[in-house]
Amino acid sequence: MKKRIAVIPGSFDPITRGHLDIIIRSAKLFDEIHVSVLHNTKKEGLFTVEERIALIEAAVSDIKNVKVRYFSGLLVDYCQSINANTIVRGLRAVSDFEYEMQLTSMNKKLNDEIETLYMMTNNQYSFISSSMAKEVAKFGGDVTSIVPNHVAEALWSKFDIKK
Ligand code: ADP
Repeated sequence: MKKRIAVIPGSFDPITRGHLDIIIRSAKLFDEIHVSVLHNTKKEGLFTVEERIALIEAAVSDIKNVKVRYFSGLLVDYCQSINANTIVRGLRAVSDFEYEMQLTSMNKKLNDEIETLYMMTNNQYSFISSSMAKEVAKFGGDVTSIVPNHVAEALWSKFDIKK
């Protein structure tokens, strides 16, 4: 049977516990999950794409069917190139909805064969984001409830904060 491959795309600057929850749950539903980091040459992140990939890899090292990659260009073209016919996105609050609707409808216009599935965020992660983690870490706050421990360490070291 054909492998069911799904892509979880995002900036992951850096990966949060909310992202990780979506990855773990999706990995149970598909044969293979590609966590795909968007390489956006115009938008500089706090972490380089290589650093983001290393942080994700360390977070998912015990899940066998998860691969971590980067991509640039159109997401639907990238999906096609790796034979993935599903995009999985996490949905936090109503505020995510409008943007996600636009994204999905654009991707559908570009390639009708690729479906987008939305997974509701676990309640405890509904209000967390990469930007919130960066904001709190910058001022030395404890971000271990927002991001995995090794990511918290990486954030503090970016901001030269000794813990
Ligand atoms: P983007 O720049 O594409 O929004 P992000 O890295 O912020 O990329 O998010 C990638 C995916 O993870 C998106 O589908 C987003 O909705 C989802 N996501 C972000 N934060 C959370 C969270 N706390 N819980 C679950 N999903 C989340």
